Amino acid sequence: MRIEILNTGTELLLGNTVNTHAAWFGRELFKLGLRIARQTTVPDGEAIRDAVAESLDRADVLIVTGGLGPTSDDLTREITAGVLGLEMITDQAALRSLENFFTLRGRPMAEANRKQALVPVGCDVLPNPNGTAPGVYVPPRLNGRSNCAVFLLPGPPRELYPMVHTEVMPRLRALSGVENPPSVLELKFTGIGESDFHQGIDARLEETPGLEYGYCAHIGEVDLRLIGSPDVLDRGRAIALESFGKHLISDDGSSLEQTVVRLLTEMRLTLATAESCTGGLISSRVTDVPGASAVFTHGFVTYANSAKVALLGVSPEDLEAHGAVSETVACQMAAGALQASGADIAVAVTGIAGPDGGTPDKPVGTAWIGIAARDARTIAFKVFHPRNRHDFKLAVSQAALEAVRRALLS
Ligand code: ATP
Repeated sequence: MRIEILNTGTELLLGNTVNTHAAWFGRELFKLGLRIARQTTVPDGEAIRDAVAESLDRADVLIVTGGLGPTSDDLTREITAGVLGLEMITDQAALRSLENFFTLRGRPMAEANRKQALVPVGCDVLPNPNGTAPGVYVPPRLNGRSNCAVFLLPGPPRELYPMVHTEVMPRLRALSGVENPPSVLELKFTGIGESDFHQGIDARLEETPGLEYGYCAHIGEVDLRLIGSPDVLDRGRAIALESFGKHLISDDGSSLEQTVVRLLTEMRLTLATAESCTGGLISSRVTDVPGASAVFTHGFVTYANSAKVALLGVSPEDLEAHGAVSETVACQMAAGALQASGADIAVAVTGIAGPDGGTPDKPVGTAWIGIAARDARTIAFKVFHPRNRHDFKLAVSQAALEAVRRALLS
């Protein structure tokens, strides 16, 4: 079944609003075993006409979002009815529910809102308990022009999402006839790149009958997506883990910080961080995870050398001799954080984010990561991520959290 999505809204093309509908529909429809064949974005108003006409000739299902409001640029209903050759009538039930919406809120209904009860004749009106604009469903044969089913849905996510779940998904399930949607497995890896996968396992995944796979690279992480029957997924998973098992963050969609918090919780251990170049990003990521309070004790953000000395006990002589971005200082920061916090494990980062401050032997992008744990030797290792400041911080925080994960597992 060929499904097309048409997102309308001038704000989406001006960059004022990020088009989150496209990604959201992709995920939701995939749960039904359905995929989006094409997604288009057009500004409000007349541009919708051509886009709807084109899709009707190509698609089995067209889902249009936005432009159902009361203002003069909200023309989705009128234009779609025109293209389909359907008359518009006032739906009395929709009009009553609009009037109720305003009565309940103690506000008079503006005349302009009446047009929201206008719908193409013979369509289903989809109730909108979260807003004023009802949705519209034009079944395939009704439209007389093509065999395409058309959904017109409101733009605001708080109105759209519930309407899709209650009104759209059941109709799509019936239209598609798909009974057993394929399963999906997402394996997250860190410490290796896409090219390692290509060389390591691509050929074997390719040879697995019934398996569809793909990669998605992020900073410090590669996700491997496997699609197929449960048996086929097991085979794909085994192939990936045989080669890259020690790099696996999770096989249930959990992020690296979620995995670290889970491991700490299971092992009943606590973590402290000492951050310079990441400015608190590591502790922020850890504390994004519900339950972090049971395992995270201290986050020291020691940006200035004087803070490293005062809070973590880093030696001023070593700072002078080796520089703040050095193995010695990373080790002292981690050991100092461990001692000051009383945590079981501490991770420290110190690096040069740039754009200034690099030298030939310590170029911009260099960072040292130190790990200290009770009854273990404190160690530090160097990473190199010459990127913009934002991406550098993310990459270093990823390497630091991965160091914690590995320390916990070893
Ligand atoms: P309204 O009654 O609010 O006018 P509408 O159905 O006409 O509803 P729009 O005016 O197109 O919808 O969008 C309303 C708001 O919904 C937008 O300002 C935006 O915040 C959000 N929105 C619309 N489309 C998208 C989208 N594709 N992705 C994310 N947000 C969106």
